[in-house]
Amino acid sequence: MSRSTPYAVFSCDLDTVDRHLQGYGFDNLPPCDLIYRTAVPRLLELLDEIEAPGVVFVIARDAEPQRALLRQISAAGHEVASHSLTHPQPFRTLGDAELEREVVESRTRLSDASGTDVVGFRAPAWDIDDRVLKQVKRAGYHYDASVFPTPALISSRISAYRRSTGMHSIFAMDLFGHAFSPTRPYHWHNGAEGLTEFPIAVTRWLRFPVYHTLTYFVPRFLFQRALRRMLRSTMPVCYEFHAADLLDFGADGVDARFARHPGMRLPLREKLANLRAILSTIAGERRCVTYRQALSEGLAGA
Ligand SMILES: [Zn+2]
Repeated sequence: MSRSTPYAVFSCDLDTVDRHLQGYGFDNLPPCDLIYRTAVPRLLELLDEIEAPGVVFVIARDAEPQRALLRQISAAGHEVASHSLTHPQPFRTLGDAELEREVVESRTRLSDASGTDVVGFRAPAWDIDDRVLKQVKRAGYHYDASVFPTPALISSRISAYRRSTGMHSIFAMDLFGHAFSPTRPYHWHNGAEGLTEFPIAVTRWLRFPVYHTLTYFVPRFLFQRALRRMLRSTMPVCYEFHAADLLDFGADGVDARFARHPGMRLPLREKLANLRAILSTIAGERRCVTYRQALSEGLAGA
């Protein structure tokens, strides 16, 4: 494909089962390494099969124990990026010292473990504001990928906030987040100058999220239509999914409390086929790059 072909970025958040469960209200669980042993090898095999690079957002708590895996990931041409140090939620409400530690230390630890310079950040639950972005910039990252520019998330944001903070007034939170911010990559001008933002894929006018978790909730034809609409445009397709999408609930011995997670009870065969079909469709029409590559080629914010 020529350099003028619009691009796509596949990103996979390597949230562990214990950190997902924390999001469902189960606190103080011991670290669970299941996704690294089962889902990540499946992810690498799939990306290899469709000959596309990917970006993995990793919780840096696990950087050292997963050193060999992170080296394998970067050696295969994929990019390792930061998904914070411990994945605390809600991220925006962290105190200054804790926020700095999550952002700075995750970059140091992941760079060291992967043997690459980590330049990308994605906040837990896309929960960022100007203060977080300034910290991300100060820590030396080149880009952030935490903006999901769609109003479709507003109701889930409300319930997540209520669950994790006990706050019952929607006025206590940033209700709209970045629901109506630009849908194409751009550069920040809010004290985080020089930091590039890569929003998650949404269609241009309706801002329909072209996001993997949605495939478990909306009729297939609706999702396919939105994806095709994006592919017909020149917008970059920054497609996000999670390692949990590649778990086999029964055979992998997943914690029973995780059954509630979207798609968790579907057979792995079906989930793999679905993800493979979507990624291959995108890869068939787009030049697949990593975020780091898009930045170095000057493709962002053009
Ligand atoms: Zn996460």
